[in-house]
Amino acid sequence: MADVRLTGVEKAYGDIRILHGIDLEIRDGEFMVFVGPSGCGKSTLLRSIAGLEEITGGELSIGGRVVNDVPPAERGIAMVFQSYALYPHMNLFDNMAFGLKLAKVPKAEIETAVRSAAKILHIEHLLDRKPKDLSGGQRQRVAIGRAIVRKPEVFLFDEPLSNLDAALRVRMRYEFAKLHEDLKTTMIYVTHDQVEAMTLADRIVVLSAGKVEQVGSPLELYEHPCNLFVAGFIGSPKMNFIAGELTAIEPGHVDVKLAGSGVTLRARVSGQGAQPGDKVTVGVRPEHIRQGGHGNLLQSTVAFVESLGGITFAYCPYPGLEEPLTCQFEGRNGADRLRSGQALDLHLPEEALYVFDSQGRALRRLAAPELSA
Ligand code: ADP
Ligand code: MG
Repeated sequence: MADVRLTGVEKAYGDIRILHGIDLEIRDGEFMVFVGPSGCGKSTLLRSIAGLEEITGGELSIGGRVVNDVPPAERGIAMVFQSYALYPHMNLFDNMAFGLKLAKVPKAEIETAVRSAAKILHIEHLLDRKPKDLSGGQRQRVAIGRAIVRKPEVFLFDEPLSNLDAALRVRMRYEFAKLHEDLKTTMIYVTHDQVEAMTLADRIVVLSAGKVEQVGSPLELYEHPCNLFVAGFIGSPKMNFIAGELTAIEPGHVDVKLAGSGVTLRARVSGQGAQPGDKVTVGVRPEHIRQGGHGNLLQSTVAFVESLGGITFAYCPYPGLEEPLTCQFEGRNGADRLRSGQALDLHLPEEALYVFDSQGRALRRLAAPELSA
């Protein structure tokens, strides 16, 4: 078990800077997920922690020991890649035992380690098989097993589920959560899939263009994204954004006049530091929009309806928006009643709204108790 600390970590290839001073503390035993769009530097960051890339600035420590100059094999980490990289001519047992054999671990000890890892991963009955005789999910388990037998202080996973089909990903997601519960070892898990991040992580690091945008628990990021990037990245379907201007700043709320329609919305956020006339962006999640209600109403005409059975999406154009508002309604009732071409009053509850300033920074949302206090 070990914590991992990064202080001002930088990585550049020649003149091209990829990581721009990353400060992070990953706690002992924590399941930390790095999430961000493709190309933002997630793999580079993970490979830097592993020692597969040399950092060009800052300090990296694992379990209290600075490891900047420590080779990968001596960092106490084990990494699992998206491509499983199994040896095709070896059976599963030998694939998992390979690293230990190289390290001259006694035979009996290898036997125990491989069998116990196979048991955790439910592949005990497959140990004689070759990789080609396995499904994708089973191969991924072998790759994980190979990491487990090394008893690392920290597991590093780089998009381990990306090669699996959707159903299997959901199943394996559960297995990863279970694995962490069983082993209680520090795990750092990279994914571009925010749903994977939300469901697995103790805490999430949102990365963009080689910088940390925000660190927090899944629900902290969902409830209190610190900026437009995190707000747009966390949550599915994506948060809707509407441009506007602050018209009033009161103790418990602000008023925003929408640019396209001139309609004024009230939002329960703190206007501290803001001025009337400031350009802002209002954010509302699809799942918080209601049909009809009091105040904060936007009139739209449904352009398109998608019914998934349990939930229904309505896409509603609105003045000033390039893309229609995505609205999510519960159940089939919504679908039975909703048709394209139908007029709809969309209610945006004031406590569900987000407001971002012209720099994209979130104004602080006010909790209900704070209002009554
Ligand atoms: P992610 O894993 O988030 O998709 P990567 O860490 O793989 O992103 O890559 C981050 C950026 O670093 C990309 O723009 C990529 O092109 C660049 N990059 C990665 N490896 C190298 C390399 N060896 N030389 C130059 N640029 C690289
Ligand atoms: Mg990557």
